[in-house]
Amino acid sequence: MSDRRDILEGKVALVTGASQGIGRACALALAEAGASVALAARSPEKLAAVRTEIERNSGKALALSMDVAEAASVKSAVDGMIAAWGKIDILVNNAGVTRDNLLLRMKPEDWEVVLKTNLEGAYHCIQKVLPFMVRQRYGRIINIASVVAQAGNAGQANYIASKAGLIGLTKAVAAEVGSRSITVNAVSPGFIDTAMTEKLSEAVKQKILSVIPLGHIGTDRDVACAVRFLASDEAGYITGHCLNVNGGMYMA
Ligand code: NAP
Repeated sequence: MSDRRDILEGKVALVTGASQGIGRACALALAEAGASVALAARSPEKLAAVRTEIERNSGKALALSMDVAEAASVKSAVDGMIAAWGKIDILVNNAGVTRDNLLLRMKPEDWEVVLKTNLEGAYHCIQKVLPFMVRQRYGRIINIASVVAQAGNAGQANYIASKAGLIGLTKAVAAEVGSRSITVNAVSPGFIDTAMTEKLSEAVKQKILSVIPLGHIGTDRDVACAVRFLASDEAGYITGHCLNVNGGMYMA
């Protein structure tokens, strides 16, 4: 990715769930492209490691403790970022959790934590950063959805409701803020090799692999490259779009 260092020079980005997996890869990709990146998640130690990684490669990073499910926590983290860098150009809503079970057995708390983190968290972050983007008449918001929001899947009603909601939220906000040159898009990953998918059984992994035309599991970098593109000026006429990064496992 190092040959694209300049495309985000001078831009300021906030990535939620940046302590590991896809969020970490997005943060590294944005920093390599020249953006200053605020890293947000609940685990300060992991964030510190990602910050060090970015700084070792001459990038600029800030670690922010943030629980996206809590509006007050989002507010204080965004305030901290604005105090440090004075603006925000790019928001990547990536923080997400799963609590899988069949709907008949799903506990209310498992429904609630997934919706509060994956969907309401994006609402809090977007609402908090939008005034800055509107004022500067520029912004890039990228929401990380999921292939299962498009294709459906048994045992993930809470997760799928949250991610389908995120795709709807993407389109609604895109329509509201387009006149301010703010684009809002979703990236919809398929089966990506991270801690989230590590816990799946070998049988489930093989079943998923059998329906991926490209024949292999995706990487966090595959997703990060799509995010970096949507964050760039080159993607300025794309909004309200859901970009699949799924190896062909769902085509729409
Ligand atoms: P992961 O490795 O489990 O990482 C999740 C990240 O979210 C962590 O950094 C975690 O950090 C953060 N997070 C969780 N709850 C949070 C909260 N309340 N506030 C702030 N941060 C929170 O997952 P991943 O596989 O990289 O997935 C990243 C995103 O991609 C998720 O939205 C996921 O739904 C989506 N996705 C993943 C796949 C896949 O195959 N892996 C496929 C489709 C979509 P802390 O625990 O420190 O807070």
